[in-house]
Amino acid sequence: MAAYEYETHEYDVVVVGAGGSGLRATLGMAEQGLRTACITKVFPTRSHTVAAQGGIAASLSNMGPDHWQWHMYDTVKGSDWLGDTDAMEYLAREAPKAVYELEHYGVPFSRTEQGKIYQRPFGGHTTEFGEGPPVQRTCAAADRTGHAILHTLYGQSLKQQAEFYIEYFAIDLLMSEDGQCEGVLAWKLDDGTLHVFAAKMVVLATGGYGRAYFSATSAHTCTGDGGGMVARAGLPLQDMEFVQFHPTGIYGAGCLITEGARGEGGYLTNSEGERFMERYAPTYKDLASRDVVSRCMTIEIREGRGVGAEGDHIHLHLNHLPPETLAERLPGISESARIFAGVDVTKEPIPVLPTVHYNMGGIPTNYWGEVLNPTKDDPDAIAPGLMAVGEAGCASVHGANRLGSNSLIDLVVFGRAAAIRAGEKVDRESAVPTPRASEIEKALDRFDGLRHASGGTPTAELRLEMQRTMQQDAAVFRTDKTLAEGVKKMEAVAGKMDDIKVTDRTMIWNSDLMETLELTNLMPNALATVVGAEARKESRGAHAHEDYPDRDDKTWRKHSLAWVDGKTTKLDYRPVHLDPLTTHDEGGIDLKKIAPKARVY
Ligand SMILES: Cc1cc2nc3c(=O)[nH]c(=O)nc-3n(C[C@H](O)[C@H](O)[C@H](O)COP(=O)(O)OP(=O)(O)OC[C@H]3O[C@@H](n4cnc5c(N)ncnc54)[C@H](O)[C@@H]3O)c2cc1C
Repeated sequence: MAAYEYETHEYDVVVVGAGGSGLRATLGMAEQGLRTACITKVFPTRSHTVAAQGGIAASLSNMGPDHWQWHMYDTVKGSDWLGDTDAMEYLAREAPKAVYELEHYGVPFSRTEQGKIYQRPFGGHTTEFGEGPPVQRTCAAADRTGHAILHTLYGQSLKQQAEFYIEYFAIDLLMSEDGQCEGVLAWKLDDGTLHVFAAKMVVLATGGYGRAYFSATSAHTCTGDGGGMVARAGLPLQDMEFVQFHPTGIYGAGCLITEGARGEGGYLTNSEGERFMERYAPTYKDLASRDVVSRCMTIEIREGRGVGAEGDHIHLHLNHLPPETLAERLPGISESARIFAGVDVTKEPIPVLPTVHYNMGGIPTNYWGEVLNPTKDDPDAIAPGLMAVGEAGCASVHGANRLGSNSLIDLVVFGRAAAIRAGEKVDRESAVPTPRASEIEKALDRFDGLRHASGGTPTAELRLEMQRTMQQDAAVFRTDKTLAEGVKKMEAVAGKMDDIKVTDRTMIWNSDLMETLELTNLMPNALATVVGAEARKESRGAHAHEDYPDRDDKTWRKHSLAWVDGKTTKLDYRPVHLDPLTTHDEGGIDLKKIAPKARVY
């Protein structure tokens, strides 16, 4: 056994992650008097949420008529009928409350003339159950909405006496013999000490795994650490084959140009100067949902109508918009375009390309954020002591495809829901569980093994190989052939983990070791993605399969589950929740309205 000393801390609740979801959960827990710790590998306000530009969806009706049921309908349709109906109702219903709470906590939203929260149009958000014109539902703090939310929630959490462990890297979950989560082992990056956090409830809020791909809009820290920890604990990941490509990543750099740019009137053109989205989506045009726009752009490029010397990207025009609008509503992206594409948005179009943006799949949960450990008898069985929220989780409200501005609202609605649930379930009087020595040893041994890894493949090299494989074989267009190749290649890549080489053996600020730990987390996420995609013989949402171009509800309206152990992935499925929380008589949605149909925009 590896000989390491560690310090033990005891809490009612430990939240891993300080992005929008982790902070909202932390704040909610602390407000209810639960002794709460939040551990995070980066400073809270540097979490990827800080980069969210466009905004947060809620049917406030500040700019015209809107209704939570319309928001729910759009979310169901956006998910391509794979989302869980109860969770989607919860999201749409609770959204306005969650946004007003943010306002009262102090988020500086942009305002209308009347002083109300400003809302902008976003792709896939409509009125009258998809029959009416686009709606202005996305609440924004200019194009820095995530930044504003993080700063506000961090301040409020401190006020409520939540305790922060900043620049602590969570390594593994500590599970009891009968499958209860009893805590987590973490490594303090700046002094090399190790820490056991024992808790009655552990909440994973570790964000997405965009960095499994070569070109991603997400931060380099988005390495799916929660998914990795869950896979090693023998629990499944859900719907991982659904990866969202954002239509407008800056060509070459990958940085995001918010959909808000098209919301404010921006449009796309091909090499013939044609506004091609009018041809594919006559009603919503450039504001069709993201998977649709990404696919259309890819078709234009594949058919030889891409722009640039290589004909391999598309133009986004904002140059027809008044400079005052650009300065007021889109200051951040004007700056990004200047820095990363050398473009003055008031004069020239921005070169853009679909780029990995969001992971619909993740750790399966119910709409309270409780992690599921599905069995044949009970597909909704709970893994006690464990919750997951935010992009790390899969409730599932985004199903096969997420609508723009539906993630930020997911963070706060389900961060809040997890806190409400923990407030009911966590017994403040009971003793904090003592994690098993054997679990702590197992985690320390894994850590020590990587620290002293002396194989022949440097971490950066293997990571690049994984990223290129995923980009090539599990991207926007998928065929039986590319996916089968992808599975084979990814299994080989995962196998090379045994040959990994770490050169720095120190304990303090060892970024080589940290990136290796992150790679061990990216790997199971990537495997579950490509194996799940290879198995799913249909097209649904972000999973566009050229050999099976249609959605097949009879066989495939079900959630994929993937158990990843090393380079082996076992798949199974669980049913989609079809029942809403309330019936039509109780004021809920008319089920006829959300019955599956073709998804056209
Ligand atoms: C560029 C960009 C723009 C976006 N714009 C929008 C938008 O306008 N509207 C919208 O709805 N959505 C948007 N999204 C999506 C949305 O912002 C993200 O899905 C969301 O912010 C994720 O939040 P999170 O709380 O799940 O995790 P994150 O904000 O990614 O935070 C993860 C946290 O987990 C911690 N962590 C991770 N691993 C460990 C570990 N091993 N140990 C300790 N701590 C760990 C990190 O330190 C961090 O605090 C955007 C995404 C991107 C990338």
